[in-house]
Amino acid sequence: MSDQVCLIEGCSARAYAPAGTASLCKTHFLAYLAWRRKRGAGLFAKYAAMTMEERDAIVAEWRKSVTVEEPPSPQPAQNR
Ligand SMILES: [Zn+2]
Repeated sequence: MSDQVCLIEGCSARAYAPAGTASLCKTHFLAYLAWRRKRGAGLFAKYAAMTMEERDAIVAEWRKSVTVEEPPSPQPAQNR
């Protein structure tokens, strides 16, 4: 499927690269790469040898640190 979107909630950008079993848009993928680098070269190198399940755990951990900009007062979807 080529119409996958970013796994980050609230982000509707088109999927750019896989992260575990899901996909991330380019912006979030680069942020994810940067986060892994910051965590240390050990994790960065180990990641390549990880299974999808193990990667999913890393992605889940990273997601907690991701803040998606949201409108201050969420409004229910309305027809215009
Ligand atoms: Zn995204």
